[in-house]
Amino acid sequence: MKMKRSVLLLACLAFSPVQAASAIHWSYEGQGSPEHWADLGNEFQTCKKGQYQSPIDVKQVIDGKLPPLGMNFHTATQTIVNNGHTIQVTVKDSDDFMLDGEAFVLKQFHFHTPSENHLFGQSFPLEAHFVHANAQGELAVVAVMFKTGAENKTLAPLIAAFPAEEDRIEVMKQNLDLASFFPSDRHYYRFSGSLTTPPCTEGVRWLIMKQPVTLSAGQLAVFEQALKHANNRPLQPLHGRVIVE
Ligand SMILES: [Zn+2]
Repeated sequence: MKMKRSVLLLACLAFSPVQAASAIHWSYEGQGSPEHWADLGNEFQTCKKGQYQSPIDVKQVIDGKLPPLGMNFHTATQTIVNNGHTIQVTVKDSDDFMLDGEAFVLKQFHFHTPSENHLFGQSFPLEAHFVHANAQGELAVVAVMFKTGAENKTLAPLIAAFPAEEDRIEVMKQNLDLASFFPSDRHYYRFSGSLTTPPCTEGVRWLIMKQPVTLSAGQLAVFEQALKHANNRPLQPLHGRVIVE
């Protein structure tokens, strides 16, 4: 249980400034880049040895007739931080959905640019990860792809709240309407994967919404400037994994 909780914290990328100072330094470029993650510490071995690693290119999908995802939205947004790895919003209260007969509750969401997962060989300029956990601390990540197009009204208050400095945790003044982050068509691709950041822990249930949503080129530029560099782990091999829709 304790183990699971620490995994959850890492999954959240929720390093507080204090933790970040003592944690092994990993990144997306230079000596701490993804191909070196496993060399940075014993606790990162799964990044190299794992057989269920994320992200992946979603292709050769099996028709499992999965029903659309039923999500319950009632979130109170709490804080936003640019932790140097991503921009992350922590939430309280509990948006949730049922998966495999269990409730998975939203803990945080964060962004990658460009996208980490691909859909049929296609990368997207932005991908949001909504990290949920069940009562045992097992994780389910719901991913939403963004393509450039119409301005995303839901993102506007979030972008306005981007902290000016890294590791500064800002309390969000405005709650976000998370329902409108999601495409109206709630069908998704499902597979088993891992955290896309060290320690690359496996056993994560991944659900990627099939339909992308949009953001404007200007909004994308704000994300790219805030993150300063790409924060996508390279694609990982499937090793015979099955993707179901
Ligand atoms: Zn992520």
